[in-house]
Amino acid sequence: MAKSPETEHPNKVFGWAARDKSGVLSPFNFSRRDNGENDVTVKILFCGVCHTDLHTVKNDWGYSYYPVVPGHEIVGIATKVGKNVTKFKEGDRVGVGVITGSCQSCESCDQDLENYCPQMSFTYNAIGADGTKNYGGYSDNIVVDQRFVLRFPENLPSDSGAPLLCAGITVYSPMKYYGMTEAGKHLGVAGLGGLGHVAVKIAKAFGLKVTVISSSPKKEEEAITQLGADSFLVTTDPQKMQAAIGTMDYIIDTVSAVHALYPLLGLLKVNGKLIALGLPEKPLELPMFPLVLGRKMVGGSDIGGMKETQEMLDFCAKHNITADIELIKMDEINSAMERLAKSDVKYRFVIDVANSLSPP
Ligand code: NAP
Ligand code: ZN
Repeated sequence: MAKSPETEHPNKVFGWAARDKSGVLSPFNFSRRDNGENDVTVKILFCGVCHTDLHTVKNDWGYSYYPVVPGHEIVGIATKVGKNVTKFKEGDRVGVGVITGSCQSCESCDQDLENYCPQMSFTYNAIGADGTKNYGGYSDNIVVDQRFVLRFPENLPSDSGAPLLCAGITVYSPMKYYGMTEAGKHLGVAGLGGLGHVAVKIAKAFGLKVTVISSSPKKEEEAITQLGADSFLVTTDPQKMQAAIGTMDYIIDTVSAVHALYPLLGLLKVNGKLIALGLPEKPLELPMFPLVLGRKMVGGSDIGGMKETQEMLDFCAKHNITADIELIKMDEINSAMERLAKSDVKYRFVIDVANSLSPP
């Protein structure tokens, strides 16, 4: 008989899990492997709440494997390091993001693109190298191979820095890969949520002109005054949308729900690029006319490799880029998820794990 999550490993862990597609989270006792020779055990301080956590607890993509302990924007303290661990020592402040495993020998891994390794394993809702299930950061500790642990720069706060481990790298990597960093070029950011607001800040640090493309006017003032965007477009305002046609060099699309690409493609100049990062539960329609007639391009991007994630953290530390957060206690997670589903968060919930997660 298969062992229970609580007894399959020696290291006892407490967290919060969703048990079914209602997505409701509740206390959960489970276990993790003992710290191995290449591992770092991390006492979790803070964990961001990504929309992927919400998609997964609700089984939006159809492959959730319950119980699910979400959480992949983890900042904590290394409490144990294995004998082969060279990058970290006990007491270091570290980060863990979206992936915690890969084959470490394929073409992608050799190019520091572990995120595209066919055997890459996600931090939660996945199976790890030892064949047992991975559980995420809504929990008191996590055990991770050192390759997938990040050095957390000194001047980055642990709470508002945590979202960089997913939201930050997810927007930074495509800006670099698709050549979207040239100062003075015009970037549209569709969807002003966790990913979108960090995209605005990183793009400003690269010297881009940034327009937020949002579904309502609610976030307009803050987008300009607090986040530093240059302008704000509401997709339901036909006059302003019309006036903005053909004005953008690139668009980063972070919208989490099914939406029309046609108006977004229209905003691009000839040769413009739309990079899709959001993962709506159903496919989007790809209109051919604006693509073909304007030699435009639609691409995608999945988080980033470990080397680039470290580079992004160091970049954000240098430019004082953090997320704007609403700090919550663990037992506030279900109402936070309800608000996240309504795009009602400014702009990332972060769980104060160490101060609010207490085993019964
Ligand atoms: P989020 O904080 O919920 O932000 C998504 C934003 O999309 C919302 O704030 C809202 O912006 C807009 N939006 C939501 N529903 C909409 C609708 N029905 N119509 C139009 N706009 C809508 O989510 P997030 O954490 O930034 O994640 C965004 C998406 O990226 C999710 O699908 C997530 O799974 C995915 N993701 C992908 C990667 C990757 O590696 N590619 C990594 C992380 C997350 P406005 O209020 O401005 O309209
Ligand atoms: Zn995420």
